[in-house]
Amino acid sequence: MAILGAIEAGGTKFVCGTGDEQGNVHDRISFPTTTPQETMEQVIKYFSDKKVEALGVGSFGPIDPIVGSDTYGYITSTPKPHWAQYNLIGKLKEHFDVPTTFDTDVNGAALGEYTWGAAQGLDSCLYITVGTGVGAGAVVGGRLLHGLSHPEMGHILVRRHQDDHFAGFCPYHGDCLEGLAAGPAIHQRWNKAGAELGPDHPAWEMEAHYLAQALMSYVLILSPQKIVMGGGVMKQSQLFPLIRTKLQQQLNGYVQHRSLLGDIQEYIVPPALGDNAGLSGALALANLALK
Ligand code: ADP
Ligand code: ZN
Repeated sequence: MAILGAIEAGGTKFVCGTGDEQGNVHDRISFPTTTPQETMEQVIKYFSDKKVEALGVGSFGPIDPIVGSDTYGYITSTPKPHWAQYNLIGKLKEHFDVPTTFDTDVNGAALGEYTWGAAQGLDSCLYITVGTGVGAGAVVGGRLLHGLSHPEMGHILVRRHQDDHFAGFCPYHGDCLEGLAAGPAIHQRWNKAGAELGPDHPAWEMEAHYLAQALMSYVLILSPQKIVMGGGVMKQSQLFPLIRTKLQQQLNGYVQHRSLLGDIQEYIVPPALGDNAGLSGALALANLALK
């Protein structure tokens, strides 16, 4: 069995690991994301004796995942200091002569859940993370969704909740989905981190109001066979039933499929790969590189 190398390149921390084609993670290491020089030095050191046959990178973005593009392999317009226009894949290629796949962290996670997790056996799924930001990736017809670049499903517009007076914190759009529903929005709106708000706090009904609208758009546009919801905010497990109910109310029976009518507990689910969703996603990208 091949040894695969996985890199979950996050804005806060990098997780590197090795694993195999069946999705087993054999080894992992994590370190804080500082400058590209420092961080990539640790990545290269870690893999130097691992003899990996392919590398998969699931990265924070925006990135350029389009093979053949001039800036393929770059982290592009990120506001994160030092990382804008950084050629991450180029750096890896200087040290490792193996096939690589580069994609967003959420596209990786979607592929991981599709290959080994909650969406096994289907041909489409959507993975959404609600954390420091909101992002989503999708597998459609067995392939990761790309176009001009990668989707940016976290920045769609949503209708405001009638009791919400928070302006939204997205530097580009103010009150887009991410601006209203990511972890920092919850923190700023209620002056308390989400983790410290009780399960019955009104924050969660408001949060579900926004996330259900987003899911409605994703259902209507992509028609995914399964939606996997991860990220720090989704640790609030009471959100799942709230979101399911609101999604069904909003769809109002329009999409006539048994996955969406009746009990949708199996349609909107937490990651089957749990806290490994990110690294397993990168492993799935490495697995793709091998093919
Ligand atoms: P990142 O998005 O940086 O990869 P996470 O997915 O852990 O990391 O998201 C971090 C965000 O999630 C923070 O804004 C934090 O406040 C929020 N968060 C983390 N844990 C919880 C929790 N148990 N309940 C609510 N919010 C949480
Ligand atoms: Zn935005």
